[in-house]
Amino acid sequence: MSTINDLKELLAQPRQIFITTHHKPDADALGSSLAMAGYLRKKGHHVTVVTPSDYPSFLEWMPGNSEVVIYESQQNDAQVRDLISRAEVIFCLDFSCLGRINEMGEYIRAARGTKVLIDHHLEPEQFADLDFSNPKAAATAELVFEVIRDLGDQRLIDVGIGECLYAGIMTDTGSFRHPSTSRNVHLIIAELLDAGIDLSSVHRRIYDSHSEMRLRFLGFVLKDKLTVLPEYNTAYIAITQDELRQYQSKTGDTEGLVNFALSIEGVVFAAILIDRGSAVKISFRSVGDFSVNEFARKHFNGGGHHNASGGISYDPLNVTVQRFLDLLPAYQTRLVTAPLAVAPPTA
Ligand code: 5GP
Ligand code: MN
Repeated sequence: MSTINDLKELLAQPRQIFITTHHKPDADALGSSLAMAGYLRKKGHHVTVVTPSDYPSFLEWMPGNSEVVIYESQQNDAQVRDLISRAEVIFCLDFSCLGRINEMGEYIRAARGTKVLIDHHLEPEQFADLDFSNPKAAATAELVFEVIRDLGDQRLIDVGIGECLYAGIMTDTGSFRHPSTSRNVHLIIAELLDAGIDLSSVHRRIYDSHSEMRLRFLGFVLKDKLTVLPEYNTAYIAITQDELRQYQSKTGDTEGLVNFALSIEGVVFAAILIDRGSAVKISFRSVGDFSVNEFARKHFNGGGHHNASGGISYDPLNVTVQRFLDLLPAYQTRLVTAPLAVAPPTA
């Protein structure tokens, strides 16, 4: 952990600042980035936010969205490399290893700017100069709030910045139900309410702004694609590229589907495996003792949190599903005896 005074000193004069977050940013990733950008701009810094990929349209309401640069390999590689090389300060938000930001990871590793990591994932890679990682935090947005407050600038958190932070905390706590939802989280929300945020409007903008097709896709997935394995307390969903196409699936349309699998009584481990063409992307979720961080890390080149993680497979979808199924017997004892009540903090 670094001290807030190091950061204060670094930001004592106007800086060229580069902010980035993980591939396929979610509300915590983008919300933390745009909240930080909004704050730093108010302090007189020159800020650019660059995401390693596009993100769901239900995040586009966030103030500062129109200035986000989306990295798109060939199209703007030179522009992004230039921004990274000119940056005096590089904020890395809501990811813990440079592999999570694709090509940009190596550009940032080699960059001269001071790297500041603010994140809540387990086992962070040591690449930052200033490290504000805390895996106990419910969301990166919780840590961004604390950083701004500890810099003595809480009064600069306006409605726009506050709603970005609220969106990050709301989504990463599963709307305040995961065990990570601490007293501190609720106290921060109280401060954000004092700043004037409209929490039910944020909730609607994120959860109630789906297309009709997305809802029909959800119906299809729940009816035809969900497999429950009671002997392993496990449920999973596998989706082909054709199915994605058939339902005109857009970025963000598959977000949250895995939670339905986990909502079945007795299920402690859920997975969704999605054929994205270049690779199969997998999301894992658990309740209680079973560590999906460990599972993703060990078998699918991924990681994340104790109860929410992700990974990747370059095998075809059916081979990946079979590989997943073949792993279950080795975990059967843990899955059937996993205590539900005690759970370390997760996101
Ligand atoms: P999601 O399933 O929502 O994409 O991700 C769940 C959690 O796991 C998030 O905290 C995310 O950052 C992390 N995660 C997802 N995919 C990967 C991956 O491929 N590698 C690593 N290290 N973490 C991942
Ligand atoms: Mn997060």
